[in-house]
Amino acid sequence: MGQLNIFIDGTWLLYQCGAGAGLANATDQPASRFLLDFGKLNSALLRHVRDTGRVCSDIGECYVSTSIFELPPGFDDWPNQFEDVTAEQIEKTQRAVRLREELVASAVAAGYRTDAVYKPPIKDYIIRKLAERRYQEKQVDTSVVALLVRSAITKTSDFHSVVTGDADILPAVRVAYPEFTRNVFVTTTHPDELNPEHRQTAFSLVDFAFDVPPFYMNNKESAQQILHGAHVYRCEECGLVFSMPRPVPRSQRPRCVRHRSRR
Ligand SMILES: [Zn+2]
Repeated sequence: MGQLNIFIDGTWLLYQCGAGAGLANATDQPASRFLLDFGKLNSALLRHVRDTGRVCSDIGECYVSTSIFELPPGFDDWPNQFEDVTAEQIEKTQRAVRLREELVASAVAAGYRTDAVYKPPIKDYIIRKLAERRYQEKQVDTSVVALLVRSAITKTSDFHSVVTGDADILPAVRVAYPEFTRNVFVTTTHPDELNPEHRQTAFSLVDFAFDVPPFYMNNKESAQQILHGAHVYRCEECGLVFSMPRPVPRSQRPRCVRHRSRR
């Protein structure tokens, strides 16, 4: 009986959880970060496989991949040391590091391994590249592909999901493992995204005839399954997802913040 192994491009996922991005837009707080529950994500993906009629016992190995800059002591002082490094850039870099550390910590709490979490030391030229949006993170994609392919080849009766927005990795997977559509599936965001880059990705996914269809995390049904919180609902009027500190009483229908305030 097969298990489900999961490989996450953490950099992409973090972006999708950001304010105004795919997952946040499925909630009634699109201007806030989407708080993803990795344990719930695992359960949702396991259900997704079983819903296709496959037998899958439980979760196998899980990896999250991203890179997190190692910031040196005295990093705060860099604007005084390097001519074109600003305090704002320093703050931005620190915030990005913090968000990635938080993402990895919550993944680890749900059993994810961090072998493919990289800690490159920050350099002043990298700060400049980041400011000009010329910095390219390369190791993450290739690590996710390598881990996925190793798992798929060695555990052929298992299922393997790659959490990514980059369908360009699939041809590489196919080269190493031609029958990958049999037990590999993609977890991504929906084609309805306004960003043309995403749209293209989603369209190219359609070119592959997966036995297990893609899991679209930002469908409202999916977003409800993976949002952090003990009491997560969908608004009965608009379908948006929200989390409540307490359960909605049985006598009331769940309504999002906007539709609650109208009553
Ligand atoms: Zn609503």
